[in-house]
Amino acid sequence: MSTISGPSAAALHSLSPSEIRFLQSLPKAELHAHLNGSIPLQTLVELAQDLPPSTDTDNEIAGTIERLRSGLTLDEISDFFPLFPAIYALTSTPSALSRATRDVLDAFLKPRNDPLPGSIYTPTPECAYIELRTTPRATAHLSRYTYLTTVLDEIEKFRPDQAALIVSIDRRMSDADAAECVHVAIALWDAGRRVVGLDLCGDPRRGDVSTFEKHFRRGKDAGLSVTVHIAETRENTAVESRILLGWHPDRLGHATFLSREYIALFFTDVPQPGTCGPSNSNTNIIQPWDPRHPLHHTFFAAYRKHLERIRNESTESEESRQTLSFHFDTDKGARRAALKDVEALMKERGVYKPCIEICLSSNLLCGTVRSLEAHHIQYYLANNHPISICTDDTLPFRTTLLGEYALLLAKPPLGLGLNHEQVRRIAQMGMDARFGKGK
Ligand SMILES: [Zn+2]
Repeated sequence: MSTISGPSAAALHSLSPSEIRFLQSLPKAELHAHLNGSIPLQTLVELAQDLPPSTDTDNEIAGTIERLRSGLTLDEISDFFPLFPAIYALTSTPSALSRATRDVLDAFLKPRNDPLPGSIYTPTPECAYIELRTTPRATAHLSRYTYLTTVLDEIEKFRPDQAALIVSIDRRMSDADAAECVHVAIALWDAGRRVVGLDLCGDPRRGDVSTFEKHFRRGKDAGLSVTVHIAETRENTAVESRILLGWHPDRLGHATFLSREYIALFFTDVPQPGTCGPSNSNTNIIQPWDPRHPLHHTFFAAYRKHLERIRNESTESEESRQTLSFHFDTDKGARRAALKDVEALMKERGVYKPCIEICLSSNLLCGTVRSLEAHHIQYYLANNHPISICTDDTLPFRTTLLGEYALLLAKPPLGLGLNHEQVRRIAQMGMDARFGKGK
């Protein structure tokens, strides 16, 4: 595995040997790992050495390798994406892609046989199971189909209960390219290859997600599971989140800026009208007319609509409209009707409880989350909603899955300070949210 550094390294180094052994002993699933962002640095260096010289790409590749080697400083998430053209150039032939995939799988599934000097623990496999994701790229040497079969050939060297593939669709793709990717994914799934799901990924500030709906529906109808990167930045609009949630993905990536209102509207295990508020520690009943209730805005909009309607439909004289009892009755009627609307809206959404793929280091280093204390994982933990701890891209974020789990167990401010039982439960939630489940 690449050198670990940053928040996860600090958390890991703060743990005792027995705490590290506990984390290593947990069966863990890595459900959100991008192939091209997880290639060990040494593999990229060796692939670069093997590449025939070309002045077009040499400088860019050397520059990217140097940035990765010296440790990235990302001011914002958009600084992250320009790294990838060089990595793509290094993995554009079948042999390079095989090598990269093999090294990524080995890094996650096999114990490192040459522990780093001064290592504070005996290496064990990072996880019991991985769903590796990648966007099939057509290059001069590969079609999208051969790209995926090349990756699958490596994945299928492991048992079904160890590794599977998610095919990622990039938000910047044209309609035709997205259609082709989904078509190939379905064909491989139908042929019994180990494709288990589809993902929507890429620069969160680009593309119109609504154009992808038909493709994801096709995949779902064919039997593939679906995950989407959602509300990754502040710029991702509520309209976009609503569209994506409307697809009912089986899992959600990041969901950093998903509004409390949408969480309450779409998920089944969050405060319902007339029940507890967003924090379980608060035993007072919060009603939707209370601004603290997550559905307050939805309720209030419906309330105003019904108030207007009741007033318009009233046959009372102008004089009686001025009385306190008229105001009281219209308020009560509008309140009751609005509550019914909210309940109907939630019923229409059905039973929906998608696992949230949480990538702590990625969020901290991309600056989408200020601190662990402010991280949205706190909300899902408080509401007992399924989550899965993942690395996203081990290469630029210089982390490992063990390091991400260390962020759960380490004491604040280095970690969340969860106890062993809570961490064990989170690991189990990840295993439960696997698309493949080794079938
Ligand atoms: Zn991701």
